[in-house]
Amino acid sequence: MRAVIIHAPRDLRVETVTVPETGAGDVRIRIGAGGICGSDLHYYQHGGFGAVRIKEPMILGHEIAGTVESVGAAVTRVAPGDRVAVNPSRPCGYCRYCLEGKANQCLDMRFFGSAMRLPHVQGAFREVLVAPESQMVRLDPSVPLAEAAFAEPLAVCLHAANRAGPLLGRRVLVTGCGPIGVLSVIAARRAGAAEIVATDVADAPLAIARAVGADRAINIASEPDALGPYGADKGTFDVLIEASGNERALVGALDALRSQSIVVQVGLGGEFKIPINTIVVKEIEVRGAFRFYKEFELAAELIAKRLVDVRPLLTATLPLERAVEAFELASDRSRAMKVQLAFT
Ligand SMILES: [Zn+2]
Ligand SMILES: [Zn+2]
Repeated sequence: MRAVIIHAPRDLRVETVTVPETGAGDVRIRIGAGGICGSDLHYYQHGGFGAVRIKEPMILGHEIAGTVESVGAAVTRVAPGDRVAVNPSRPCGYCRYCLEGKANQCLDMRFFGSAMRLPHVQGAFREVLVAPESQMVRLDPSVPLAEAAFAEPLAVCLHAANRAGPLLGRRVLVTGCGPIGVLSVIAARRAGAAEIVATDVADAPLAIARAVGADRAINIASEPDALGPYGADKGTFDVLIEASGNERALVGALDALRSQSIVVQVGLGGEFKIPINTIVVKEIEVRGAFRFYKEFELAAELIAKRLVDVRPLLTATLPLERAVEAFELASDRSRAMKVQLAFT
């Protein structure tokens, strides 16, 4: 089968690899759609992020959905022909965090297409994937695989929304309108937010934020003072979901946050310098949000029932053999929100 393999920064190849054996508890899937994620782009552009670097060739990809080809003897929940969204996280199930139900914090996590451990965990941009049944979420046969492949990034945003606490009736600010910011707008709307304002520094992603339900989308580069009025009476927003990973986005939003508001930092960034006195005096809570666990099944269900519509995010689909072109396109925010690879 063919797979998309990163060898070094800007050295991405479509190569032939062997299909692994299907164990008794495994499911063999023909991949239909795979979304290119920000982390895939980091490996492609820079060879990794922070201390995480590619040390050996690695198949990229973790936002995938496909059709079951065959199953091992012990598999009971899925059968050949089923459509599935594949959860890319495989927690150990035994460590203290797994036992506490916080499997995204697992001490021995295997996450598809991640160079965090050595040997790296190979990813899922491949024609055929063999993985344990526990990672499969069965879907209604009518669900397009391209939409099902959004389950992973949506799960990240549902987890971020959960970290914020109840959003019913809350005023929510989302900074950064890449796929995670836009899907956070969708998650906040679904969770009952009364008002959602989104910001970015580019117009194209803001148009998509508006299309999926943001009440207002502000280009903070061309309108740098637009958040000013939200600073009246010690601020307007109960929750900030910071999805840009940019220090200026977080710092620039603090005045617009009410006292005792909650910041959910979901965007990864370098080091931030934040005015700690504002955090103290306004009693702002800053919380991280990393990956997801139980939210994956909910994400797949919301997409399958079209209780959320992810279609406005999908800006292009390219066949597997044009993977390099797809990664270049996905790197251009003026032209692309989510780019997917088609495998069949
Ligand atoms: Zn992702
Ligand atoms: Zn664990």
